[in-house]
Amino acid sequence: MDWREKYAVEPGGKLRLSDYDPSDTGKHKSHEEALPKIKDHVERMAKLQYLLYADGSQALLIVLQGLDAAGKDGTIRHLFSGMNPQGVSVACFKQPTPIEHEHDFLWRIHAHAPSKGDVVIFNRSHYEDVLVVRVHKLVPRDVWSKRYDEINEFEHLLTRDGNVKILKFYLHISPEEQLARFKQRLDDPARNWKISESDYTEREYWPQYVEAYEEALSRTSTKQAPWFVVPSNHKWFRDLVISRIVVDTLDEMGLKLPPTRVDLAQITKKYHAAVANVKNGSFGKGK
Ligand code: AMP
Ligand code: MG
Repeated sequence: MDWREKYAVEPGGKLRLSDYDPSDTGKHKSHEEALPKIKDHVERMAKLQYLLYADGSQALLIVLQGLDAAGKDGTIRHLFSGMNPQGVSVACFKQPTPIEHEHDFLWRIHAHAPSKGDVVIFNRSHYEDVLVVRVHKLVPRDVWSKRYDEINEFEHLLTRDGNVKILKFYLHISPEEQLARFKQRLDDPARNWKISESDYTEREYWPQYVEAYEEALSRTSTKQAPWFVVPSNHKWFRDLVISRIVVDTLDEMGLKLPPTRVDLAQITKKYHAAVANVKNGSFGKGK
């Protein structure tokens, strides 16, 4: 079974989040059972990322979206820390700065699109401009309603011209689970810093966010840049689903080590000559 089919949002379909159970764990029963699989995926992801970097002809963009406490930060920590920092970066999108406000909504996003060979993870993204911006009426309907097409065109450009593979994950949690996580933030001094007043005010807009997510996911899930609804009440299942989809995607990208740029026979001779120079004491004496 291809998990990408199982969790992908059908392009052109009409998605209803109430059809998805945020507590779903598929056939898996426990964290203990899933852990070796997650570990295996994380190791394979690290190897494939090395190949992507060496190959240097394609890129991967991972978009993480979800309500407060949905687990965006945890996903990044659990799944991507095994990759080589040289080819991986995370871009977090917060409230736009005054300078960002002076530009179109995709300006700040485009600057973080991955170079060939790189993996970039977006912690929030251009989708905020049809989510929080829509829910709080930060721009008129006439403006945000055009953004779905603009986003599709932008993502198409990244795919076609930048050779970027795009995977977009919606971390689906229930309101009860969100509250349980807010409680953990209150109880655990190491997590107190994560609490913000806005967590509670935004929670009041839950139905509006659901509506905004449903439209965003329905209208911008495309073949080149699919959305996946990830059941995320159980963190381990969220990690399992995302890591599996990322591994399967990288596996299919046809990544190869680039051909050697030198004549290996010639270089081998030079190597042996260098070893001989050290042995006979002539190394370091000049030409
Ligand atoms: P956090 O991810 O908890 O650090 O919070 C970042 C905040 O920035 C969230 O409340 C987002 O909704 C908000 N944010 C991100 N992008 C935008 C945007 N384009 N317009 C307004 N608010 C945004
Ligand atoms: Mg937050």
